[in-house]
Amino acid sequence: MPTGPVRAHVGLGGNIGDRKANLETAISRLGETPGITLVARSSFIGTEPWGKTDQEWFLNAAIAVDTTLSARQLLETCLAVETAMGRVREEKWGPRIIDLDILTYGDALIDEEGLQVPHPYIAEREFVLEPLAEIAPDLMIGGKTVRELLNKD
Ligand code: ATP
Ligand code: CA
Ligand code: CA
Repeated sequence: MPTGPVRAHVGLGGNIGDRKANLETAISRLGETPGITLVARSSFIGTEPWGKTDQEWFLNAAIAVDTTLSARQLLETCLAVETAMGRVREEKWGPRIIDLDILTYGDALIDEEGLQVPHPYIAEREFVLEPLAEIAPDLMIGGKTVRELLNKD
C-alpha cells in the first residue's frame, strides 16, 4: 500500500562553539538530505543545562520535517550529521556541539534498541517543549498536546 511522507519533529541543541551557526548548519544539512523536506523551524531559545548543570547554557530549537525515510534512517541521518559536525560523545548529558533527537515520527510508538519515539523525556524538558510549541502546539505526545505539557505548571 503506498504511503506518503511522514511528519516528524526533531529537537536540536548545542552548547559548544558558535551555537547559532551550529544549529543553522544542522538544519541545513537535514533539509538537504534526500527524503527530508523542512516544513517549519522554531526560533532559537537559550536554555540552562539539564541533567548535568555545571556547563555552558544551550541554544535549542525544534524543526518539523516531512520525510520518506524510516524512523531508523532518520535517526542514522541525525547521528551522521552530528558526527560530521565533529560531535564527540564523552560524558552522559555533557557538553556538545550539536545534538539531534527525533522527538516524534508521525504517531509511531517505537521502543527498540537505540531508538525510542516519542523521545522519552519530552514532557520533562522545557527546552524541548518551548521550541516545539512554537511550531506544533497541538501535536499529541502521550495523550497530551505540547501546549498542555508546556503549561502544566
Ligand atoms: P537524551 O537522549 O537524554 O536527550 P543525549 O541526546 O545526550 O541524551 P545521545 O548521546 O545523543 O544522548 O544519544 C544516545 C543514543 O540515544 C543514540 O545513539 C541513539 O541510538 C539513542 N536514541 C534513542 N532514541 C532516540 C531518539 N528518539 N532520537 C535520537 N537518539 C535516540
Ligand atoms: Ca538529547
Ligand atoms: Ca541525542
